[in-house]
This record gives sequence, C-alpha cells and structure tokens, in this order.
Amino acid sequence: MAITPSLELAGLIEGYRRFRETGWAERRERWAALRQGQEPKVMVIACADSRTDPALVFDADPGEIFVVRNIAAMVPPFETNPGHHGVSAALEFAVQVLEVREILVMGHGMCGGCKAALTQELHGSEPGRGGFIADWISMLDDVREPIARELGTTGREAERAMEHAAVKVSLANLRTFPRVAQLEADGNLRLRGAFFAIAEGVLYLLDEETGEFAPA
Ligand SMILES: [Zn+2]
Repeated sequence: MAITPSLELAGLIEGYRRFRETGWAERRERWAALRQGQEPKVMVIACADSRTDPALVFDADPGEIFVVRNIAAMVPPFETNPGHHGVSAALEFAVQVLEVREILVMGHGMCGGCKAALTQELHGSEPGRGGFIADWISMLDDVREPIARELGTTGREAERAMEHAAVKVSLANLRTFPRVAQLEADGNLRLRGAFFAIAEGVLYLLDEETGEFAPA
C-alpha cells in the first residue's frame, strides 16, 4: 500500500508525478546518459533560501550545474580544524574530481542569513538554538562593521550592502583554498560573484575590478 504523504508533502508528490510525465519522460535519453556520470562545468554556491534555486534561475538541465546551498551562500575559509567541513568537501569534489571550469557564488535579495549577520540577533545563542547560524554568519563580522557604521543595521540599503559584501567574502574565502587559487592563477578556473534580486527576477553579475554588480 502506498504511503499517504503529509499535507505539506502532497503538493511535492504531485509535482513529482508531473515531473515523471514531462521533465523525465520527455528527456529520457538525457537521464539515461547521466547514468554514466556527471560532467557539470559550473559549480554554483547559493543560499538555502527557497526562493533562489539555481536550477530555476538558470533554467539548468540535470547534470549541468553542481550546487551547494547553505545559509547566505557562504564559502568558509580554508580551515583544517576538527569538524565536518561540508562546503569544503563539495568544493574539493568540484575542483578535483569534476574539474569544473567556473565557480559562481550567488547571493540574493532579502537574505535572512545576511540580515541576521547585520543585526547580530542570534549572537550568543546556544548551538541548536541559533548558535550554529550565529557561528556560520560570523564570517561576515568584518565586513559588517563598516556597513553598520555607515548605513545602520536595519533597512534595505544596509541589508543589500550586506548581501553584496557576503558574495565578496565568499569569493575571497574561495581563494584561500590553495588549489582553487592555483587553478585560477593558471587560468583553469574562473570565480564569479552574482546576486539574484528575487522580486525583480533579475540576476546581477559582480565586476570584481569596480566592486559593482550589474544586470547580466
Ligand atoms: Zn539567503
């Protein structure tokens, strides 16, 4: 007997059935070819936010992008301290095994993680009660200072400045991984920052020379 899905899951199971009829059945050959393995050329690091799915934003095919999503689309610095380094593991896999040619860090508008970094509302929370988030977004503490001083800690202007700054922090942290830095220096890997404005549905790309984001 089939398991009855919860109310919350029922809509997703319906979506799955549509996928079986269209997304999967119509592209059966593509899926069959993917059984041999994946060869995505681009890694995307995005926020876990439900409104910024890279596969949707880029209308990407299965097998096209290798994606890591987390709070605020952050890449931690190269650290070898004990702990479980999920993003670093995915990054290692992307550059070492998949040999991706490009890594795109995609921040987004109305990012709750960036907002919390700005307000520091979770500061001092216990692990499991906000402490993991607080620790994760403390990676943004250094860039928060000038923003908070200049624009305050509330309002869209300050929030967007924080969201843009977070992308730049992730790019800088990516370059602390020796292999990433080496591949980039050799011209075998390109790092790119991006920002997705949810309500407008517009993707902005970062020009690292000017520090500005411009519509793609
Ligand atoms: Zn977010």
